[in-house]
Amino acid sequence: MDALSQTAPAPGQGGAKEFLDQLFSAGVLTETGVDGLYGRSGDFEEVIERFETLVTRYAGADKAERIHFPPGMPRPMLEKSGYLKSFPQLAGCVHSFMGGEADHARLLQMLANGEDWTDLQQATDVVLTPAACYPLYPTVAKRGPMPDGGVLFDLKSYCFRHEPSQDPARMQLFRMREYVRIGSPEEVRAFRESWLERGPELIRSLGLPCEIDLANDPFFGRAGKMLANNQRDQGLKFELLIPVANEKPTACLSFNYHQDHFGTLWGIQQADGTPAHSACVGFGLERVALALFRHHGMKVADWPQSVRAVLWG
Ligand code: ATP
Ligand code: ZN
Ligand code: MG
Repeated sequence: MDALSQTAPAPGQGGAKEFLDQLFSAGVLTETGVDGLYGRSGDFEEVIERFETLVTRYAGADKAERIHFPPGMPRPMLEKSGYLKSFPQLAGCVHSFMGGEADHARLLQMLANGEDWTDLQQATDVVLTPAACYPLYPTVAKRGPMPDGGVLFDLKSYCFRHEPSQDPARMQLFRMREYVRIGSPEEVRAFRESWLERGPELIRSLGLPCEIDLANDPFFGRAGKMLANNQRDQGLKFELLIPVANEKPTACLSFNYHQDHFGTLWGIQQADGTPAHSACVGFGLERVALALFRHHGMKVADWPQSVRAVLWG
């Protein structure tokens, strides 16, 4: 047993579902009837705000351009991104009613009969954003070749992933804060290295145990197994794990090196015309907040003074 699983909640203290029920009864999260879709309390939101301020402080002098895209992105953009090839099981597309009055009457009839009325809806131009950085790459490509030294972005978005679960740390709609570095391989790797050091420092300053580990994305299907192995062999994805609600600790930050995948796909050029490399560091904001509630208790006012001092200054 490694150091982290020893600090994970003991089986007798309950697992994910018990933690979820605890969060509901303390009013930290509000139940909606759909797994992974919750209301958040004022305290929960304030913790996220304070945590984000801390993240900005750790980003330090790095001059980042901030862009907040909405939680929906153009459907053709997701189609071209390759997301549907790798993660069809997670994607969500917005559908809408586009019929006339006769169709509307049918829809109401179906509703009244308890029939499936969604057949009367059609796909719109909008899909739900699966990761905060997806809309960024085509945006940067449109600006033309990058300046010398590359670029750095500070992003945040609500993200959707169809992975309903009773683990409160696995939501269907959650927020991701991301820093994205685009530039030469050396610039991009140095960026990721520095966050691999800053990330654990930041999390430990909040009185949370953590550990960095090699990881892979949940690529779909049999071909996906190979992609996942490849990602691991090349050390392209690392995660910062914190015990939250399971015996297995939860990925709360992720550190991804895409090589020139997005640069080539979208035509992002370095100043010398070669395809840009990119890396992103993602902060799962709900997961970090849940880790804090798990380790320090349901009442923010009762959290250790040292933790409160770091968050509230
Ligand atoms: P996991 O292996 O737990 O599914 P992931 O590898 O899919 O995580 P990423 O795709 O790297 O996660 O997403 C970046 C960050 O977003 C993660 O480190 C995590 O903190 C957060 N995140 C991912 N999926 C969810 C989810 N379903 N609910 C809440 N936060 C999530
Ligand atoms: Zn990203
Ligand atoms: Mg996942």
